[in-house]
Amino acid sequence: MTNVSSTLAAEISTTTPPTPQKAAAARILSNYVGGRWVTASASGLLDVSNPTNGEILARIPLSGVAEVEAAVAAASAALPDWRDRSIGERTEFIYALREKFRQRIDDLAASVTREGGKVLSDARAEITRSIEVLEVACAAPMTMQGRVLEGVARGINTETIRQPIGVCAAITPFNFPAMVPMWFLPFAIVCGNTFVLKPSEQVPLTSEMMFHIFEEIGLPPGVVNLVHGAHDAVNGILDSPGIRAVSFVGSVNTAKYIYRRAAEKGKRVQALGGAKNYMVVMPDAVVDKTVSNVLGSAFGNAGQRCMAGSVLVTVGSAHDAIMGRLKEDAQKLIAGDGRDAKVSLGPVISSAACSRIHEAIESGIKEGAELLVDGRHPTGVPAGGNFVGPTILDHVKPEMRVAREEIFGPVLSVIQVDTLEEAIALVNSDPRGNGTSIFTENGAAVREYSRRVEVGMVGVNIGVAASPAYFPFSGWKDSFFGDLHVHGWDAVEFFTRKKTVTSRYFSSGTTGKFFTEQGDKH
Ligand code: NAD
Repeated sequence: MTNVSSTLAAEISTTTPPTPQKAAAARILSNYVGGRWVTASASGLLDVSNPTNGEILARIPLSGVAEVEAAVAAASAALPDWRDRSIGERTEFIYALREKFRQRIDDLAASVTREGGKVLSDARAEITRSIEVLEVACAAPMTMQGRVLEGVARGINTETIRQPIGVCAAITPFNFPAMVPMWFLPFAIVCGNTFVLKPSEQVPLTSEMMFHIFEEIGLPPGVVNLVHGAHDAVNGILDSPGIRAVSFVGSVNTAKYIYRRAAEKGKRVQALGGAKNYMVVMPDAVVDKTVSNVLGSAFGNAGQRCMAGSVLVTVGSAHDAIMGRLKEDAQKLIAGDGRDAKVSLGPVISSAACSRIHEAIESGIKEGAELLVDGRHPTGVPAGGNFVGPTILDHVKPEMRVAREEIFGPVLSVIQVDTLEEAIALVNSDPRGNGTSIFTENGAAVREYSRRVEVGMVGVNIGVAASPAYFPFSGWKDSFFGDLHVHGWDAVEFFTRKKTVTSRYFSSGTTGKFFTEQGDKH
């Protein structure tokens, strides 16, 4: 059986095969270690291509254990001074980053679009969310506070303080080149940790731009470090004795692997996996609003979002009520260059992803689904790009491949059920549980649905209900391995460890008089 998660992960070795003629001139990216841009000693290189036209943008070094250990050594050396700085001083850096991100939003968004393909408005939204994370991290002087209880016994207090855990690392996916690294880095460093980032080998350029910004604000050398690479760099991180915590975001199988291997090495781990997100439409849903939300959810970022709505579940007469309008509006969506304001969806990340998505659509047709909107051959798109237009498969059955696997492309599968009960059972039969939405005006249905679905994030009449940065981003089941989720209160929990101090002082004696410089006579 083809498992899409493993297929997605396997694509990295085939996504950007080096093309000697074109790549010869491409810039080779450096790692950023101990406050310096350094050439990796690794001999392997991987092309980074623009998914809109196939242009080779750069090449990354396939760093291995040596490069990871150099970054860990720099991060370890920076740790004692960084964690001893006052919380106010560390927070100042985050304020400065927030200002820089606001000033550079257009450059950062352009970089996201160039290497990842998403439309510029989505890229700007991604940077805006990164800024929101920075703002939440600025609350660390309050969120990092511990607790104290006076008088656990006569004259004795107990307090819990939060301390940094040490060197932390993040391994991130291709679909949010700025936002996902920024889910972790600001919280990690504001809490007094130092940090190593291994970005996706498919989108390393936005990370490079962000690290130039970290350099510009004068972060002390070694506080943040960047290591480019793929599997070897990841394994180096998982096995490094110097790394205390690992944050991962990517496909299900990789998340399971990361969780297991890092935990075995005694690290704290949060590993976010892939998803299959269901949107349930009840017969009383408001048609036009539902259709626009469903389309945005299914086809935004060309379906390459862990919160993409990829299965539409119509309950009873909802199918008749919305399918005509859904088809009509989907056909109006334009695939093309993400910089063009008329375009609704950019390319998918690679030609390998494009072929995988085509295969999934064809499997759906073969298994008996009806191809209501065919996006396999979009017209008017730039040459050399990896384009798939909006695709809708109707009359899908839960056992079909398109219903089971994460397609991670602009493909919406429609399944009909008769009751809300059946819809809940269908959603809960999925091994993953990242996000889901229900469309209805009926409060009782909403209550029942949100209470019973085994999914971490629920939207009500909202397509992609990704939590704001001041709440946890919290998938369930195979969409998440670990305890503490991303951002919100969980971030400070993840990036600190608690210490309990129980104390008493004898100098005030038994009479209750306070200590004086002359000494306590009692
Ligand atoms: P991926 O799992 O292929 O890669 C993610 C990272 O893991 C990359 O940095 C890559 O270098 C590394 N990696 C991949 N395979 C590896 C292996 N076998 N050994 C060691 N390292 C390995 O994911 P992707 O294709 O970059 O991103 C898409 C996936 O990420 C989708 O499944 C999507 O749902 C998921 N995702 C989940 C969330 C979430 O919040 N749950 C958010 C974004 C993306």
